[in-house]
Amino acid sequence: MSKRLVLLGAPGSGKGTQGALLMERLGIPQVSTGDLLRAAVAAGSELGLKAKAAMDAGELVADEVVIGMIRERLNEPDAANGYILDGFPRSRPQAEALDELLIALGKPLDRVVHLEADEEEIVKRLLERGRADDTEETIRNRMKVFRDQTHPLLKYYEERDLLVTVKGVGDIEDIYGRIEQAVNA
Ligand code: ADP
Repeated sequence: MSKRLVLLGAPGSGKGTQGALLMERLGIPQVSTGDLLRAAVAAGSELGLKAKAAMDAGELVADEVVIGMIRERLNEPDAANGYILDGFPRSRPQAEALDELLIALGKPLDRVVHLEADEEEIVKRLLERGRADDTEETIRNRMKVFRDQTHPLLKYYEERDLLVTVKGVGDIEDIYGRIEQAVNA
């Protein structure tokens, strides 16, 4: 099974849930920029202070902040045998920076999995989850940010023959099975 994976999908599409299962079953780390940023906010670090306002508004945190964070994380020893990127890249500059970084490491991505779910289902899930940034207004803004900045990455990865699309609706294990099949195909 491919080991350098990206999970791409709208907020609430299930990236976090499926990323955690992949981590457990493949024995490679799940690298979630959302989790890393929330940890920085909780720790009150300078980076956290910079990120908080954007996160509260449902905007993207500055590219250079998340790119720097990812560069450090992928250089950790546990990422040497693969990883699941969850929530990164989320913009074209992030995707290009990732390409550069991986070219330098000589270890390109194996697959980009697009988790597809419709907006109605997603809003319902997020409102049930109830995280601090899961208010209706913030959710709407995160959806817009996804459409404008992240969705174009589907074409970016399709052109590089890396993209597989999986239906992200239904039973968690069924979705996992679809991901497993798609990345092995
Ligand atoms: P979700 O995908 O459900 O919105 P995440 O935990 O992935 O949740 O992201 C939460 C917030 O963290 C985003 O709305 C954004 O402010 C910030 N964030 C996460 N990943 C990135 C990224 N790659 N680039 C910029 N901001 C990010």
